[in-house]
Amino acid sequence: MAIPAWLQAHLENIGQANPDGVSRAARATRCRQCRAHILTALDGDVAAMPTRVTNQEIDEMGEFLAISLGIPTYTLRRAGHATKGAVWHIDGRNQSEIKGPRRYAVMAQHQCGVHLPPAVRPVLPDAAPTRAPADPMTPPF
Ligand SMILES: [Zn+2]
Repeated sequence: MAIPAWLQAHLENIGQANPDGVSRAARATRCRQCRAHILTALDGDVAAMPTRVTNQEIDEMGEFLAISLGIPTYTLRRAGHATKGAVWHIDGRNQSEIKGPRRYAVMAQHQCGVHLPPAVRPVLPDAAPTRAPADPMTPPF
């Protein structure tokens, strides 16, 4: 079902739709207000809303800051069939997904002028402890 022409024109005017139509597949574009690089797509398969996310992955601290500022967060996951060409979907995150382990990259909704800290990945793998961890009940002397 196609969306009405007036709604398509409105979504394009506010920068929430691709000029060739709203799509479930994420698409790289630029914010019309601040010219930042963003991704835009529908945020679900049913009753979806067009959304715009930053092109920068955020870690748990970034997501905490985003939620504290009232900015929704989304996952970016690969979808589609590998031989037919993969697409990327943007899905909203609910409470259980936010507190659970991460399976996909997490991005925040784009807000002009808001810059969240990017995800920090460790450069070196975790080193194995060289000896057994100290008993917290035993003083180190
Ligand atoms: Zn912007």
